[in-house]
Amino acid sequence: MDLAFTPEELAFREEVRGWIREHLDPALAAKVLGGLRLSKDDIQGWARTLGRQGWLAYRWPRAFGGPGWSVVQQHLFDEALAEAGAPPILPFGPVMVAPVIMAFGTPEQQRRFLPGIASGEVWWCQGYSEPGSGSDLASLRTRAERDGDHYIVNGQKTWTTLAQHADWIFCLVRTSTEGKPQTGISFLLIDMTSPGITVRPIRLLDGEYEVNEVWFDNVRVPVDNLIGEENKGWTYAKYLLSHERANIADVNRAKRELKRLKRLAQQCGVWDDLRLRDAIALLEVDIVALEMLVLRVLAAERSGKPALDIAALLKIRGSEIQQRLSELMMLVGGPLTLPYLEPALEGRWEGPYPGGDSALAPLAPRYFNLRKTTIYGGSNEVQRNIVAQTLLG
Ligand SMILES: Cc1cc2nc3c(=O)[nH]c(=O)nc-3n(C[C@H](O)[C@H](O)[C@H](O)COP(=O)(O)OP(=O)(O)OC[C@H]3O[C@@H](n4cnc5c(N)ncnc54)[C@H](O)[C@@H]3O)c2cc1C
Repeated sequence: MDLAFTPEELAFREEVRGWIREHLDPALAAKVLGGLRLSKDDIQGWARTLGRQGWLAYRWPRAFGGPGWSVVQQHLFDEALAEAGAPPILPFGPVMVAPVIMAFGTPEQQRRFLPGIASGEVWWCQGYSEPGSGSDLASLRTRAERDGDHYIVNGQKTWTTLAQHADWIFCLVRTSTEGKPQTGISFLLIDMTSPGITVRPIRLLDGEYEVNEVWFDNVRVPVDNLIGEENKGWTYAKYLLSHERANIADVNRAKRELKRLKRLAQQCGVWDDLRLRDAIALLEVDIVALEMLVLRVLAAERSGKPALDIAALLKIRGSEIQQRLSELMMLVGGPLTLPYLEPALEGRWEGPYPGGDSALAPLAPRYFNLRKTTIYGGSNEVQRNIVAQTLLG
């Protein structure tokens, strides 16, 4: 196993770093690096910039309009984005639904949906979870009944991230109650402007509006928007989840946040506290180990060996690391990490910050927000079950 990058890969990294330096607004990067609130325009504006370069869909093969990069190039690009403080690429379009459309959609669906995802123009959200159907996803009850060349959809999705901005939602719906629950599920693409859809906000622990309930009341969806075959949606749903979980490891952002943690510790005058240094060192070891795990997956893919089936492990370790980073930042800031100061989150804090630096203000909201990482994308307890079944037998 060779974990070192080749000279060509290192040259590629310099090229993408240079491009990002030229195109990423420093004020936007400062917002990301300082953990401030990002607007819809911040996120979508950057997605469009990447889209114009053909890099928003950076994991896609050339045949579908992607750059056709190797997995190592994709990793290096992701690393360059993270270290520069680029806004996150929302996974729902390019990382989650697009691979499903490529693998199981018709050529017509591919022509219709993929260009808007690759350009960043069309915002997608994920309609899987329902009240009572999260870990036990196959029990979902949102119904889609056939009426001529349409489905009539009724039911409710929940925890739908950023649905308030979404143009489209990809949904798991029940089209049959015969047999096992998994066999009666279909995968539908639904226009969020369809009559009968209501989006209601759920406020998270950090006070932010990030997730929603989405209600469907006799929503008419053309049969043309069905992906693959009716009642085969569970297969497509699982295919999508494996992409979601690998993405959640987010090791490159963890490396960046570790640097921020060290900076904050120095700034707050606690860098010489040996117990804190010990905790930071242990965390750093785990981040390096996670990176090695990611590189092992890349090395296996590069050498044409079967990829290691460790998406669940990456999700567990990556999400725990994100939480530990935010816990240590809270410890470093102590009482100065006052929760939820609206102007400070917007970078509009004027005058002295009570007792310190307003850079500490976003730490508490971030700490509360990141409690989600061990729940979403399949909770870590359920991921541990998957690891036990697939790796230990
Ligand atoms: C911030 C946030 C954003 C989200 N965004 C989206 C989104 O955009 N789209 C979407 O479709 N979904 C989204 N989700 C939903 C997410 O996927 C579910 O919350 C998750 O799958 C857990 O389901 P649940 O909330 O119903 O909890 P439950 O399934 O009710 O689980 C409750 C507890 O029981 C544990 N548990 C359940 N089953 C087992 C088991 N078999 N063994 C051991 N422990 C078990 C769980 O780990 C958890 O601790 C989001 C969730 C959050 C918190």
